[in-house]
Amino acid sequence: MNDNSFNSYLHKQIPVMMVLSLFPGLAYIFLGWIHGIQFRALIWYGLVLMVSLWGYSIYKEYLANDLSSAQIKIWYRKLSWFYYAIFFLWLLIFLLFISEKQFNLHYIAIFTEIGASVVASTLLVPDKKLFKPNIIMLMVPLMIYFIVLDEWYGYVLSVFSATLAWVLIYSSTSSHKLLMRTNYQANHDSLTGLHNRYYFINFLQSMLSSLQASRGYTYLLLIDLDHFKTINDSLGHDIGDRLLQDVAARIKKYQQKNSLLARLGGDEFVVLGSEYSSKDSCKQDAQAVANQILVGLKDSYTVELHKLYISASIGVSLVAEEYIDAGRLIKEADIAMYEAKENGRDGVIIFDDDMAVRIELNLELERLLHFSLENDEINLLYQPQFDEHQQITGAEALARWNSKKLGNISPDVFIPIAEQTGFIIELGRYIMETAFRTLGSWDKQGISLAQFSINVSMRQLFYYDFVDDVKLLCEEYLTQEMREKIIFEVTESIIAEDVEKVIHIMEQIKQLGIRFSMDDFGTGYSSLSYLKRLPIDEIKIDRSFIADLNNVASDQIMVNSILNMARQFNLSVVAEGVESSDQFNYLQTHHCSLYQGFYFSRPLAEQQFVDFYKKT
Ligand code: C2E
Ligand code: MG
Ligand code: MG
Repeated sequence: MNDNSFNSYLHKQIPVMMVLSLFPGLAYIFLGWIHGIQFRALIWYGLVLMVSLWGYSIYKEYLANDLSSAQIKIWYRKLSWFYYAIFFLWLLIFLLFISEKQFNLHYIAIFTEIGASVVASTLLVPDKKLFKPNIIMLMVPLMIYFIVLDEWYGYVLSVFSATLAWVLIYSSTSSHKLLMRTNYQANHDSLTGLHNRYYFINFLQSMLSSLQASRGYTYLLLIDLDHFKTINDSLGHDIGDRLLQDVAARIKKYQQKNSLLARLGGDEFVVLGSEYSSKDSCKQDAQAVANQILVGLKDSYTVELHKLYISASIGVSLVAEEYIDAGRLIKEADIAMYEAKENGRDGVIIFDDDMAVRIELNLELERLLHFSLENDEINLLYQPQFDEHQQITGAEALARWNSKKLGNISPDVFIPIAEQTGFIIELGRYIMETAFRTLGSWDKQGISLAQFSINVSMRQLFYYDFVDDVKLLCEEYLTQEMREKIIFEVTESIIAEDVEKVIHIMEQIKQLGIRFSMDDFGTGYSSLSYLKRLPIDEIKIDRSFIADLNNVASDQIMVNSILNMARQFNLSVVAEGVESSDQFNYLQTHHCSLYQGFYFSRPLAEQQFVDFYKKT
């Protein structure tokens, strides 16, 4: 029996057994004294005392230490011997009393024996190896005793005792089975039969504390299937379930001895290694097992009539010298797994110190970003946009974070963090308000732009109050004429969401006069069918296509196609990241509408922009 909950149950019964032996035991000394066998009764009680003390030390051993699985095995063996010993002592008192002439002692002995059997069958129910031998050890001598009486009632009583022994064993076995079944269900995943998250977390926690005591190492592999959702969505959950079962069976094949395999949920599996004394061999094994699983999973699967292929991304975390709790170990494997996904999936990444540093930094950024608005560290720059005659016709507002503690942080870094934490709602509103105010103030200074772009992130767009927020800010800062200059830049990632909902939100915003632009076009999920459906007025060719425009033929083809397509759909096109006259000339000959980039101007502060505008 290697189940911790059962061990701890049996552990709790030690004091119960001690109390049940030590207190009633006193009565036997008294009875022994009445019948002149006090000396033997005292010796017996002394033995009970010794075994109880030993039981107490076993009890304490379990409490005091975080035992490793090897130590648990040894402890369990001692525990078994304790229970055999204590019930043997009850057999002994039975033998002592029935060997006396006085019949009243025999009654006591018989009752003692039956009582002890009932105690064994109830207290030791989680463990067949304990209750069965003890019941037999107690009841068989009773049967023999009745037979030896050589009286008709003795034979009857012997049959009765045999029946009682059978009933006790039968009922304990039934309860034991029921217990095992509920325990199995609580600890296993019904689909794959592997251990479940609940069991895994408990096991991991106890393993980590025992590793800390033994200064050992282990590894954790977090295995996440790539694009499993596609299979589930396209072929149905039944096929998905069957595939998960096959995957579970395959991983099992590569699992090492004494390691633990569990399904955390969905398409996520974990393998927890055994205990290692050397860090290097632990790491080597982790890498080797992960690679084997990676390769093994890629062979085709036949589910019903479908031939399926799937790969996995595996994140590995290692238990190092310092103490690490279960949550952190899983988190690290999770981070490594996401890294593997980002590196193109179908790979293994081991969590390392660099990653740890990055995470620390991210946490720090997350924390500081939260105070950036109240510390007045966020400001906006405005990058001019030009027409084909190189006249300023528009501007894009770009956020900057000048952290007092960390210096300038790029929006490519802090915007995704703000999105993850939800801070983007507050930040986005602030950016919009500042941009609207700037547009209003420029208007008063006679700066007349045809368009003014503001980046809006996906999470911001989907915020339930977004439309109302925009309405309120429009009413506060912008005339109708100015509203028609505003363009919200969204990225293709919005398409990954509920498209109907996106269209609904965009339509509401458009009623205010605001237009939409598709930013970083060509880098994401662009699909013509979506482009046709979304109420977009402009697209911005991503700067990665502009960068090598004059050298890379495929980039030229890409840019030409975007320009052609935009013409068909009647969309205006902005080329981002124009850095050279060659790039500008190429785009100009191919009839791009607007240009933005360092070739014309870097993003400028509000006043700088005014000066620049007046100069040109
Ligand atoms: P984006 O919207 O595509 O903005 C254009 C980025 O290209 C800006 O980077 C700009 O400084 C940079 N850029 C412009 N011309 C050139 C050029 O000629 N060469 C090169 N190499 N780069 C050029 P920035 O300001 O670092 O912004 C990066 C991204 O962060 C933006 O890409 C946008 O996605 C996001 N972002 C910036 N401000 C905001 C904001 O206020 N809200 C939201 N949601 N996202 C923002
Ligand atoms: Mg933009
Ligand atoms: Mg862009």
